[in-house]
Amino acid sequence: MVTARTRATLNTAAAAARDAVGGVADLDAGGRADRAAGEALSSALAWSVLRTVADPEIPVLSVVELGIVRAIEIACDRKTVTVTVTPTYIGCPATEMIAQDIVRALTDAGAVQVVVRQQLAPAWSTDWIEPAARARMLSYGIVPPAARSSLARGVQPLRFVAPGSVRDLHEMDEVLRCPRCASADTERLSYFGSTACKALYRCRACREPFEYFKPL
Ligand SMILES: [Zn+2]
Repeated sequence: MVTARTRATLNTAAAAARDAVGGVADLDAGGRADRAAGEALSSALAWSVLRTVADPEIPVLSVVELGIVRAIEIACDRKTVTVTVTPTYIGCPATEMIAQDIVRALTDAGAVQVVVRQQLAPAWSTDWIEPAARARMLSYGIVPPAARSSLARGVQPLRFVAPGSVRDLHEMDEVLRCPRCASADTERLSYFGSTACKALYRCRACREPFEYFKPL
């Protein structure tokens, strides 16, 4: 139900963004729009369009809220848009789908050519998820990742985990409260949930399973 409502909101925002971009096209037809002001406007509109592109794995979040859109460049002709994206995980299967969705949304909004390029460094961090998005994630039933800054500061070692030694990883986790009943009596069932970036937990109080978006 939450998903449906959020999608409806996203669709409404998409329609509004499209209307606004239509306005930009009118300015183009006039041919006298100030270039600097026009670019800023187009860029802002492109950002608002991408706020309507849902993350395939957490559909209540947009790709912008997830923090994976690093930059949007509008070419001087204002027809070519270059979007720089940092994937959440290298090899994340959603990456290709996200790129296709970005191209489709911006094309629908009037872009003639959309280039999606990947930027792997600096690596995406769960700290880039917008604060408001964390609350929505929780209401969707996924415990948002703890801020990494609260877990460790400075340089972190690369950890290699042998099969069967996931107990080490568990020690990194904080006590998670159930997103439904807020009980702290929870247990982890699997370090990997429906996707590699989430772990599967269960609440012993209400017996409902839930997922935890792991800090990265
Ligand atoms: Zn519970």
